[in-house]
Amino acid sequence: MSVDWIKPADRVQALPPYVFARLDELKARAREQGLDLIDLGMGNPDGATPAPIVDAAIEALQDQRNHGYPPFEGTGSFRKTIADWYYRRYNVQLDSEGEALPLIGSKEGLAHLAIAYINPGDLVLVPSPSYPAHFRGPLIAGGEIYSIPLSAKNDWLIDLGSIPDDVADRAKMLYFNYPNNPTGATAPREFFEEIVTWARRHEIVLVHDLCYAELAFDGYQPTSLLEIDGAKEIGVEFHTLSKTYNMAGWRVGFVVGNRHIIQGLRTLKTNLDYGIFSALQKAAETALNLPDHYLDDVQKRYSERRDFLIDRFAKLGWTVAKTKATMYLWIPCPPGMGSTDFALSVLQKTGVVLTPGNAFGEGGEGYVRLSLIADLDRLGTALDRLEQAGIRYA
Ligand SMILES: *Cc1c(COP(=O)(O)O)cnc(C)c1O
Repeated sequence: MSVDWIKPADRVQALPPYVFARLDELKARAREQGLDLIDLGMGNPDGATPAPIVDAAIEALQDQRNHGYPPFEGTGSFRKTIADWYYRRYNVQLDSEGEALPLIGSKEGLAHLAIAYINPGDLVLVPSPSYPAHFRGPLIAGGEIYSIPLSAKNDWLIDLGSIPDDVADRAKMLYFNYPNNPTGATAPREFFEEIVTWARRHEIVLVHDLCYAELAFDGYQPTSLLEIDGAKEIGVEFHTLSKTYNMAGWRVGFVVGNRHIIQGLRTLKTNLDYGIFSALQKAAETALNLPDHYLDDVQKRYSERRDFLIDRFAKLGWTVAKTKATMYLWIPCPPGMGSTDFALSVLQKTGVVLTPGNAFGEGGEGYVRLSLIADLDRLGTALDRLEQAGIRYA
């Protein structure tokens, strides 16, 4: 007997469907039909976590002192490692006592920050396309979203001039992310300077997601929001170990920046969770202290894949932008084809899984995202299949 009086709360029912979940169903169906899937849809790095990190975790697991509840605010030693890492990388000083907070992956922090700060009806500015947690967190909080459309014409940068003054004055918070998922775009330092000045003038909390801090190529070094004068007074920045260190399943991230903003998030989280298993915080310290040659290897791996694919796509008539960072290619759909139709047709004809750009909001329509999460052999096979299926740009 079905019990039709059991219903999730409005805040859950009102959420637009999570496209990745729907993609999972389609993948399952394709697998049932016997297709060998090449899944370049998710942002899940394909390699193993580096051995020194795994070893540190094993050692920490065997230490009984790590077996109890971790401190709410994360271990002092991990927070200090975060502050030291930040100083080393960005020359920015942080107080590990209040300006750094470990998170169970950055996604929960990005979403919970909205719950901690957004009242029903508050206005939140979110670019479109964007990483889903940037708008889903505010939606769950009951916030009103003002979408800032990004476009190739403006190199996928936020055009601050396009936001009306009355909207900016009403807005409480702005989420943004460069190097960008899904577009792969990067933002020059001047952009960060402009957005800080603008946000201070309009009294808007800046939430920057720098989860691709180290997946940058060709000598490019991404800017941290906190490098900009005055940013720490109005902003926070999210980081993750998921991408750089192939640790997506471990769930380790952190937020740094303004202590009052972080305190609000911490208060909320104290009521919801106990943070990260202490043994994993130990392993995370090892990750942040790995020698630079490790990063060189990771960067080389992704940039080789990028170059290889851009070349192969060119042979099929595509001009794909050469991204200076992230693990994605942002690929225009053939003229006249929408994101969903194109991604579905590629999946059905070839078994290659791409993410329709509209999964990241209306602004992603007309594009698909390809994750560089397979080795060159497998990527080559994917492109062979596209070629055999006659899939071309035009
Ligand atoms: C992958 C990703 C994250 C989430 O990372 P976790 O720390 O694993 O939760 C956050 N933001 C963006 C833009 C991402 O691409």
